[in-house]
Amino acid sequence: MAETKYIFVTGGVASSLGKGIISSSIGKLLQARGYSVTIQKFDPYINIDPGTLNPYEHGECYVTVDGHEADLDLGHYERFLGIQTTKANNITTGRIYKSVIDKERRGDYLGKTIQIIPHITDEIKRNVKLLGNKYKYDFVITEIGGTVGDIESLPYLESIRQLKWELGTNALCVHLTYVPYLAAAGELKTKPTQHSVKELQSVGIQPDILVLRTEHDLSQGLRKKVALFCNVDESAVIQSKDMPTIYEVPLRMQEQHLDATILRKMGLPVGETPALGPWRDFLDRRHRATETVRIGLVGKYDLQDAYKSILEALSQAATYNDRKADIHFINSEKLTDQNVEEQLSSMDGVIICPGFGQRGIEGKFVALKYCRTHNVPTFGICLGMQCMAIEFARNVLGYADANSREMDEKTPHNVIDIMEEQKSVTHMGGTMRLGAYECVLTPGSKVMEAYQTEHIKERHRHRYEFNNDFKAEFEKAGMNCVGLNPESDLVEIIEIPTLKWFIGTQFHPEYSSTVLKPHPLFLSFIRAAIGQ
Ligand code: GLN
Repeated sequence: MAETKYIFVTGGVASSLGKGIISSSIGKLLQARGYSVTIQKFDPYINIDPGTLNPYEHGECYVTVDGHEADLDLGHYERFLGIQTTKANNITTGRIYKSVIDKERRGDYLGKTIQIIPHITDEIKRNVKLLGNKYKYDFVITEIGGTVGDIESLPYLESIRQLKWELGTNALCVHLTYVPYLAAAGELKTKPTQHSVKELQSVGIQPDILVLRTEHDLSQGLRKKVALFCNVDESAVIQSKDMPTIYEVPLRMQEQHLDATILRKMGLPVGETPALGPWRDFLDRRHRATETVRIGLVGKYDLQDAYKSILEALSQAATYNDRKADIHFINSEKLTDQNVEEQLSSMDGVIICPGFGQRGIEGKFVALKYCRTHNVPTFGICLGMQCMAIEFARNVLGYADANSREMDEKTPHNVIDIMEEQKSVTHMGGTMRLGAYECVLTPGSKVMEAYQTEHIKERHRHRYEFNNDFKAEFEKAGMNCVGLNPESDLVEIIEIPTLKWFIGTQFHPEYSSTVLKPHPLFLSFIRAAIGQ
């Protein structure tokens, strides 16, 4: 395709309507037609990135291969499209302002007064086009965080207005709204949608396509009404009904010709509808699975979004093992030697979650001791892996005061220590060991059997590491270091080979598990959990 096409996805009426899933579904459908596609998220908050944000505020922090701490929607983009995103795929208002202010300090603006229009909007537009210009994608989908009508969204909407004007049919706006059902009246209401579209129109944007989130089917009459009031074609009013799984959404969008409507509106040939074979196979398998695999997630956040990628990786791996993932949150703050049996004995497998700080950490040791001594398949991720090492040092090596430097600055048994390059860090944002690093696996280990290769690359996000001074002692007592960074010798994976499945990874494998390429470690973990 000669020129990159730009699709903007905005949202109105309420937040959390699933803009990320709609953006990913559009991307998936266009990709299935042979187009090269990327998706980016623009977030209207002032933080430079979500790395310093509490998961209660913003859910999981996703990490890209190039080491950017990013919005969790980038995880959806990767899981749906099987692409890799980078730092350029996630922009925040903070980053836009920072780069404008840096330019101003350098004197790049030659004495001009710096204003939201044109300087901030120009910087937004430059970032919208960055990936398209560099990699010549056929489509760049830009999801705008927040809701139309928010003060902080305005510069983004103004940039979209300008881009739609400049790019003509090469730009298109998909607006996602909500159609509430009033039970008392027994009616679906379109007024909030009409108001939300008016709000967009008032800043000069006419949406081209409306996607209406709803809990009930929308009648043809209702679609007609929305089309009439909102200046869109009837065929461009699409419903997005609640689905048992987000992975159904691309199929439902395809049935309503969302992709064909986009192509038509952008002046491209529509052609045949792609079959989406492997995607449908995945969904069929998921629906057919009746038996469950019970997984306990031991962590301090009892909130879905905090462990988004882990949940998705688990459910994908369960599907490929013809099981339904039955996941139970187990609050590590409440776990004690007294209740651990009751909490964990019915689990087929246990995940010890990543995390930061002291809160809930002792409960993780309680869980690990139980799992290790009862031979429960156990997967420790990042802090979870560090806890595996600490629990082993305390209860097998006999160092009652073993700990991580993160939790105890003075212990002589610092089996988890601060990394050398982290000692001088003074700023919190973007300074961890971040992004994909190489790792070499030990032949004969369970991990190598799972990966079926010796050289892997996985994504990291941490400041502390396994302390190599204790390596020989650990191995002698039965916990092996089976994955090493070839340059720094950092221990990236530990396992107890005599147990069914007891593996900890310093990296986060969950970030790279996708619908069509489930992660080998999660597959192997679920296989062990169901006793294969
Ligand atoms: N807090 C630990 C560290 O910084 C682990 C981080 C994590 O689990 N992502 O090393």
